[in-house]
Amino acid sequence: MEILTHPNPVLSDRAGEIDPATDPGLRSLVRKMAEAMYENQGVGLAAPQVGIQKRVIVFDIDEELGAICNPVITECSEETEVDEEGCLSVPGINVPVERAISVVCEGLNLDGKRIVLEAHDFLARVLQHEIDHLDGVIILDRLTPDQRKAAIREYNNRAAAE
Ligand code: ZN
Repeated sequence: MEILTHPNPVLSDRAGEIDPATDPGLRSLVRKMAEAMYENQGVGLAAPQVGIQKRVIVFDIDEELGAICNPVITECSEETEVDEEGCLSVPGINVPVERAISVVCEGLNLDGKRIVLEAHDFLARVLQHEIDHLDGVIILDRLTPDQRKAAIREYNNRAAAE
């Protein structure tokens, strides 16, 4: 599966909720998303990044593949942290993004069963990043106007150099 990159307008759209029980293509979509994520050494991927406007994310930060449908952050810590973040849809650059240190994420597994995930630190960051994609938000949108300008300049220079 091809991963869409900025400034593809699909990355700015809001993806729709899905019903795992009545979505026959879901398992194959998740398998292909996982393949694309591993191939590109990513730690997470959201369906809109492969052009599918469904609220599905996959992630793997400790050699265990996770997938959540319709993920929602239901709680997040007041404490935040700024750290460098990259994105397969904005390849080649890392930018400082502020995220909650801990979150509770609720959603559905591939069988349509409700799941609740308590995540801290890096996993919390990955979940917030991937759920942003479902709302059409990418890391560049999390920057101040000045940071954004500098990041886009760096991104365009890298793309031009390739
Ligand atoms: Zn991303």
